[in-house]
Amino acid sequence: MIVVKLGGAAGINLDPFCEDIARLVAAGKKLVVVHGGSDSTSKLQEQLGHPPVFITSPSGHTSRRTDQRTLEIFQMACRGLLNQQVVQRLQKLGVNAVGISGMDGKLWVGARKDAIRAVENGVTRIIRDDYSGSVQVVNPGVLNTLLAAGFIPVVSPPGLSTAGDPINVDADRAAAATAAAINAEELLLLSNVPGVLRAFPDESTLIREVKRPEFTKIEGLVEGRMKKKVLAASEAVIGGVRRAIIGDARDLQPVSSALSGKGTVFA
Ligand code: ADP
Repeated sequence: MIVVKLGGAAGINLDPFCEDIARLVAAGKKLVVVHGGSDSTSKLQEQLGHPPVFITSPSGHTSRRTDQRTLEIFQMACRGLLNQQVVQRLQKLGVNAVGISGMDGKLWVGARKDAIRAVENGVTRIIRDDYSGSVQVVNPGVLNTLLAAGFIPVVSPPGLSTAGDPINVDADRAAAATAAAINAEELLLLSNVPGVLRAFPDESTLIREVKRPEFTKIEGLVEGRMKKKVLAASEAVIGGVRRAIIGDARDLQPVSSALSGKGTVFA
């Protein structure tokens, strides 16, 4: 079993990704597709006149301010449009894909953050009406049922809070928790870079392999949006996944390339 998470950053084309998935499914591979949608959400926020706002925590992590309206737009972009674009392409290629969100079948459950600390101009303020959280429990029943019946699940945020609200969850870490929960052998995190770069954005500084004792060191080395991917890859391997690979979604055969070990391999 393979869990493949597709990033939503600029430069990523859905067609080669879906064609590669279709080839692998035809060859008998079992897999689950997960995707985020941060770029689509930002674009739709602009179009709908509710532009994105990013907040920085005291520890330096940046996240999308998810008020009620942003949550709705996030759902429209991820589960509404992007998810169905992936499902439609896979269907056209003969793959019997089914789109679900992390709320369906209580797949991704976690606590909603009731107070977020955001630093603005050196001043910390508390935000209480945010709809974000992280996945604490994965209930894989819905995935196992779909897989056993021969469907290919395509999973998108949001997740479900313990109180039953939708929550904006990080799709990389949710994919990692899912891979561990369904005993996947591999987790692929595909984005618009060749892998983890020691000196971003210099692509010649690609780190090819990270062994378990080095996980924390690498987490400390990278910054920005790559930090969560490194954390996700580490969590998957610690959770029992044999290999997690951060690979390039811009390749002509992005899934097969990552499976062949191209990218940064965590093991
Ligand atoms: P996606 O939305 O595709 O899942 P993200 O945008 O969240 O991906 O994360 C990938 C981005 O991380 C890259 O486009 C790059 O700008 C950024 N990044 C920051 N540091 C690094 C690094 N050390 N190596 C590679 N990418 C990095």
